[in-house]
Amino acid sequence: QGRATLSVAVRPYGDGMKLVLSQDITEHERNDGMRRDFVANVSHEIRTPLTVLSGFVETMASLPLSEPERQRVLTLMRQQTDRMQTLVGDLLTLAQLEGSPRPAPDRWTALDPLLQRLEADAGSLSAGRHVIRFQVEPGFEVAGNPSELASAITNLVTNAVRYTPEGGRIDVSWRLRPDATGEVEVRDTGIGIAREHIPRLTERFYRVDGSRSRDTGGTGLGLSIVKHVVQRHGGELVVESEPGKGSCFRLLLPAPRVRRARQGAADHKS
Ligand code: ADP
Repeated sequence: QGRATLSVAVRPYGDGMKLVLSQDITEHERNDGMRRDFVANVSHEIRTPLTVLSGFVETMASLPLSEPERQRVLTLMRQQTDRMQTLVGDLLTLAQLEGSPRPAPDRWTALDPLLQRLEADAGSLSAGRHVIRFQVEPGFEVAGNPSELASAITNLVTNAVRYTPEGGRIDVSWRLRPDATGEVEVRDTGIGIAREHIPRLTERFYRVDGSRSRDTGGTGLGLSIVKHVVQRHGGELVVESEPGKGSCFRLLLPAPRVRRARQGAADHKS
């Protein structure tokens, strides 16, 4: 927290002591600047759908509309309220993750049913516009917070759907790597990401193409959520991408957080 870092460091100096503030102030200012940017971004993201909504409210109040016109306006209004709901949901998720810096609790969860659920979700999200394939090495458990892990993988799959044109391919896989690290891979044949954007992707509200993200329901917070979940599980996020060819996001879980389900049953007995 910015203000907390203002607590001064006291160092011996000649016969007395000196207060070391400079670094703390720099950090304080940096955090303060980030907070201001964040508030400005949130306000902007909320104001845009609100402006559109109030325009529609005015239209409905002042114009006599036929029933089909009324239905059309209501559909557009619903899109804007959905957008605000998603944004507030993502903001709350992010606030929760940032407010609890402790590592995610070590609860062992079977991976197969979790990924099966996500496969069904991906299918309805794509609505038949993409070829989606899940390839899962069966019988694994992971240690961590299952809903956080599910939300991280969901964000990656949602992005693959969002940034892959109709007819494209999305491959999701889980496997144990030779070094015993667990790997969730989400690969798409979508629009890809230019090299210079990759280091900034997990920043809050960072978007390569703002209008495409917004038009497809993106909040600009998804990868920031993924980053926090990965950090809390001691994992890594690896991104490879080529504009026009597609992207590959890999979520790596460290070996101590991955085990075969049968081994788990044996553990319980011993
Ligand atoms: P958003 O809600 O905008 O998708 P994210 O934080 O999930 O926000 O992603 C940040 C940005 O990274 C997106 O706006 C998009 O430009 C880019 N991006 C993320 N995933 C992909 C992908 N699979 N293919 C191409 N671009 C992507």
